Order: sequence, then C-alpha cells, then structure tokens
Amino acid sequence: MADKPTMTTSAGAPIADNQNSLSAGPRGPLLLQDYQLIEKLAHQNRERVPERVVHAKGWGAHGVLTITGDISRYTKAKVLQPGAQTPMILRCSTVAGEAGAADAERDVRGFALKFYTPEGNWDLVGNNTPVFFVRDPLKFPDFIHTQKRHPRTNLRSPTAMWDFWSLSPESLHQVTILMSDRGLPTDIRHINGYGSHTFALINDAGERFWVKFHFKTMQGHRHWTNEEAAQVVGRTRESTQEDLFEAIETGNFPKWKMQVQIMPEADADKTSYNPFDLTKVWPHADYPSIDIGVMELNRNPDNYFAEIEQAAFSPSNIVPGIGFSPDKMLQARIFAYADAHRHRIGTHYEALPINAPHCPVNHYHKDGAMRFFPNNPNPAAYYEPNSFGGPVEDHRFDEPPLKISGDADRWNHREGNDDFVQPRALFNLFDEGQKARLFANIAAAMGDIPDFIEERQCKLFDQVHPDYGAGVRSARAAIKDRNPSISAPTDQTLADASA
Ligand code: NDP
Repeated sequence: MADKPTMTTSAGAPIADNQNSLSAGPRGPLLLQDYQLIEKLAHQNRERVPERVVHAKGWGAHGVLTITGDISRYTKAKVLQPGAQTPMILRCSTVAGEAGAADAERDVRGFALKFYTPEGNWDLVGNNTPVFFVRDPLKFPDFIHTQKRHPRTNLRSPTAMWDFWSLSPESLHQVTILMSDRGLPTDIRHINGYGSHTFALINDAGERFWVKFHFKTMQGHRHWTNEEAAQVVGRTRESTQEDLFEAIETGNFPKWKMQVQIMPEADADKTSYNPFDLTKVWPHADYPSIDIGVMELNRNPDNYFAEIEQAAFSPSNIVPGIGFSPDKMLQARIFAYADAHRHRIGTHYEALPINAPHCPVNHYHKDGAMRFFPNNPNPAAYYEPNSFGGPVEDHRFDEPPLKISGDADRWNHREGNDDFVQPRALFNLFDEGQKARLFANIAAAMGDIPDFIEERQCKLFDQVHPDYGAGVRSARAAIKDRNPSISAPTDQTLADASA
C-alpha cells in the first residue's frame, strides 16, 4: 500500500476504511457520526451545476489559434497580429436538447471560443450559422420557449415552433439554413463556425472598422439526412463526442481557416441592409472574406466537467483592439451570458482555472461564493482610489467614441427590413437535390401542426421564392397521403386542448 497515496476526506484527514460504513453491529443502523459517509453522500448530491438553459449538451477541446495574415492596419489586438499563437478552448453544442440529449439532432450548433490572450480573455460565442432566428432580444426568451418542452405535455412542440416562426418572418433565413443539409451535421469537425454578430476592430490610430469573424472547416462539410441520423441515434447518442474525442486522441487534429469580413465604419449607414441585424449576412461580393489564420484543436480535456461544463463563454469578454457593435442581440448577450454563469457556476466563476485569463487579473471585486484567489499584493488596497499601490485605470485603452444618435423609442424592428432577399440568395444556391431535401425536412419537422399555421408559413416561403412555397406544400401533401392520421386541428380544437 505504501506506493499509493493515502485517501483522505476533503479536509485532508486519512480514511481508514472506504468499504464499510459505521454501524451499530453488522445488522444495526448507521451512526450519524460517520462523517466520511455523510461527506461522500453530500458531495454526490452536489455534483451538478444547473445545466445551461440552452446549449446544455456540449463537446469541447483545447487548441491554438495561429495568425498567418496581416490585419494590423485594422486592429491593435495582440491576438490578431501576424504570427500570434494563442491557446484557446472550443465548446460546441446543440441548442434545444438537455445535457443527456442525443447528438445527431437537427439543430443549430453552438460554436463558442475562448482565446487566452496576453490582454485578457477574448470569447467569441457564435454558432455554425452566420445568422439567427430573431433580431430583437425581447423576442429571445419566447423563441427559446418554443424550442424547449411544452409545459403540459413535457414534449417538444412543432406547433409552438412553427406558430412562432410563421409569426416572425425575420426567422426565415435561419429556418432555411436549419432545414437545409447543414442543419444536421455529422459532428463538429465538419461544420463552420461564425461569430455571427458584427463586432468592431480598432487600430492604433483609434480608427474603428466593423468586422464579422468566420471559421471555415478544413475537413469539409458532412451532414446526415434525417433517416441516417435516426439510425445513428439508435446506435449511439454520443456520436459527436465520440468523433471529436477519438479524432484528437489519435492525433487527427481538426482545423478551421479563420476569416474576417471588414467594413469601414461609415459604410454602416449606406448598406441596403442593417449590418447590425443578426438575421443578415454581409454578402461576400460586397465585403470579401480575408484569410487571417488557422485554428487547430489538439488536446482533449482531462476532466470534462472542469474544462468543458464549467467553461463559461460570454460575448462581454473582449480585448483592446476588438469592440462591440450596436447589434441589439449582441448588446443583450453582453449582459445575459455573464449573468447566466454567475447564476450557474457562481460569483467568481472567472477565477476557475478553465476560465482564468493567462495574464494578470487586478480588480476590486470582493467576497462571495468561491472567493479563493489571493488579495491584491498590498491587502490595504481593497478599494479604489487608494494610496497603497492598488491597480488603477489606464486611458491608453480608451475606445474611440461611438457616434450614435437617435430618439429613444421602441422602434419596430420589422419595419424597413427585407426578410426575404437573403433567404432567397441562399435558396438560389441550392441544387435540385438540396431543394428537395429542404422541402422534405421542413415537411417532416412540421409534424402534425394545424393547417392554418402550415399555410401561414408556406405564404412566407412563397415570398422567398414561389418554388419554395410550392415545394413545401407538395412535400406536406405527400406526407399527409402516407399518414392520413395527421389531423389538422382547427383553432377551436387547439383552444379545447389547452383548456
Ligand atoms: P456567396 O455565394 O459568396 O456565399 C455563399 C455562402 O453560403 C458560402 O459562404 C457557403 O459556405 C454558404 N453555404 C452554402 N451552403 C449553405 C447552407 N446549406 N447553409 C448555410 N450556408 C451555406 O454568396 P453571398 O455572400 O452573397 O451569400 C448568399 C447567401 O449565402 C446568404 O444569403 C446566406 O444565406 C449564405 N451565407 C452567406 C455568408 C456570408 O457571410 N456572406 C456566410 C454563410 C452563408 P462555404 O463557404 O462553407 O461553402
């Protein structure tokens, strides 16, 4: 036994017997003083933190970002300078499923990155799609409710999803991507990642440019049809975790080309679309992609919980040379993500090793859960300003002022927006096979939704392209022919069901 360490309690006391609890005789009840048993059970009770409300099922790994291009005239960010190599972690996820959900589901994939830069952590918390379902964050909780379980049946509800989408034309672009081939990827090595929001780049001269970040898979795109995915889920619910872990474990490191699209600050008033609208892309013909580097994943976590489940990504984490934009969804996420982690993991979640920056951290946040990190070097400097050498602000990091003017009002986010032109551009990229699968995937996803919702949604597809609406109607008719039991409840039966 001498070559093995002695097991201890969490307070360090040696444990003499880890096989038998303390009881009054072999047939007798347990003694409350068996604190070792109590500690063990108490810890088991506390092994979970609340799972993420969305993006609960995730997979991740460590890696490195290497910058090979030169965009130093646009940004002073050290992480984006030519030759910079930055350690990073990636966590991908499905959106709607719970922590134990099957991986091979048709769903958007989260694509969250944390770069440990010399100037603090930079988090880019995007998806495998360049756009999103809504553009105003006031719609976000309602949208997510439609993706999660119905309060009464505790089942996912196609009626809720298509009711919401058909009442929200801004969702058409993302719905089209979700229902296309790329909506059901085989794993995360074969997907693109998009920062999705518009961010800012700021250079040494204090000039601001708008930027979109893209990560293009170097493994190529791979996806499953619904039928293939059903077979995969029957075989294994962990297909993505198995794929990623195995690839990295065997040295087959996945890589992504990092690209940016850059827009001069003044162009934002000139584009026909709002460049800060999360339901829109910037067409490549207007703002071409510029290759700037390669991201490689090359190390599996040693402890999934500590390094992936507790990894906490937030768009609020930016570094000098990278800034925010007026994108309303981004603005809301800057608040909401950090807030979610304080609730989910604890007040000082950013002091955990996986979240801790690889550079000095100097702040005056004080006590609270998990306050385990040391004081400032001089403990007398626990407020600011102080006369005892505590950390101080540094105006070298001031951002140029953001010139924004406008009347504060609840501006109608649907007015003046063309929700059809960009889904149409995507639809026109699809070949006949891709279109047929798009129609079939939508028809299947509609399940047994009421006819009036189906028709309302098809009218939106008509406005994207007449072939789109016609294709979905025809795929629905084929499904209904095969399954006459798909009933079409009227408004009244819906009302009855919820009574
Ligand atoms: P381009 O022809 O220059 O670009 C088309 C883009 O579409 C490519 O980036 C391609 O990705 C991507 N794409 C291909 N198939 C799918 C799919 N099933 N789901 C999602 N994306 C796909 O045209 P534009 O820049 O003018 O954009 C046209 C449309 O392409 C947009 O309305 C948008 O729907 C989509 N798109 C545009 C992007 C952009 O940033 N401009 C980014 C992603 C999509 P890849 O390079 O990997 O083949």
